[in-house]
Amino acid sequence: MTIGIIGGGQLGLMLAEQARLLGARTVALDPAPDAPAFAVCDEHIVAAYDDAAALEELCRRSDVVSYEFENVPGGVLIPLTEKYHIPQGFRPLYDSQDRLREKTNAREHGLLTPDFAAVEDEASLRRAVDEIGYPCVLKTRTLGYDGHGQAVLRSAEDLPKALPLLSVPCILEQFVRFDYEASIVLVRDARGRTIHFPVGRNIHRDGILDLCVVPAAMPSDLLERLVGASERFMAGCGYTGILAIEYFIRGDEFFFNEMAPRPHNSGHYTIEGCTTNQFREWARYLLGQEMEEPRLVAPTVMKNILGQDLEAAERTAREGCGDVHVHLYGKRVAKPKRKMGHITFVGMDKEEYDARWRDRFVK
Ligand code: AMP
Repeated sequence: MTIGIIGGGQLGLMLAEQARLLGARTVALDPAPDAPAFAVCDEHIVAAYDDAAALEELCRRSDVVSYEFENVPGGVLIPLTEKYHIPQGFRPLYDSQDRLREKTNAREHGLLTPDFAAVEDEASLRRAVDEIGYPCVLKTRTLGYDGHGQAVLRSAEDLPKALPLLSVPCILEQFVRFDYEASIVLVRDARGRTIHFPVGRNIHRDGILDLCVVPAAMPSDLLERLVGASERFMAGCGYTGILAIEYFIRGDEFFFNEMAPRPHNSGHYTIEGCTTNQFREWARYLLGQEMEEPRLVAPTVMKNILGQDLEAAERTAREGCGDVHVHLYGKRVAKPKRKMGHITFVGMDKEEYDARWRDRFVK
């Protein structure tokens, strides 16, 4: 069978690697001629994500199609879902492409979210601030990622710096003074069976994921409630396929922050840290195979490698340390905040990572 992948980034690359191990072929579509996944896929198509003819060609060459890129426009995807086998469909993408819709949907399906309000101009921003109070966060409703398109407002003095964001529709959110962030990756098949990967504790730097530490070291009751609510959310929304959900944890409460119907950066640790990984189980879902319930092999730390850490990562790879697994995505141009790879430290907790490895990377 051939899996078609819309998007040829590192998520597509890692899906293609796992699909091959399961005996499947892959074909990826991406606008960049040197997209990372092209190095591993059997075939590729260089085209824009909204090129209807190219997407149709991808579908024709595939038995099943999915996406690793979350901004595929519905206008081109929806007609294809009627003709070809795209089992995740457009719905989870649609629900996640707009932060207002995403949080409204999360609330309607039983998840607690930060307070929020739609904002489209200065007057509605002032009304929303009166309602939600300081501190709060103004975010663009669409196309924001890794802290781009956001401004934290701590007092009325911060209002002027937020105004430029209002050139597009925005959402104002209560700023949650969380203890930590955590994420879960689930895969639900067509029969409604759901598996999930162990919850990770996420540590960000400058709005970008830096470390994912597993297990998340949270009370078992809280963990159980978070997993149960996530499974019910996914089933209640009728989603199948892969879904990642990010939460803010405060005391014994968890607040939905955002979701993505694709593998998650925080789930990269599963490749070596679990008995099966997020890419393999996603591939099994796409291929209609029985999914496997993952187990954690040992405490694991995943470190993201951005452009500024590439040399240190290459040195780590050359040293070839047993339970230190270096993944480099083969991107030609290294930019300071660009995700170039990740390193998984299996059999290590945060304290040991800090003592032995932290100083190697740029602070
Ligand atoms: P996002 O792109 O929405 O995931 O935001 C990027 C990061 O900004 C998050 O991982 C949080 O660290 C922080 N952040 C976003 N929204 C909030 C919020 N409502 N309260 C507190 N921190 C937030």
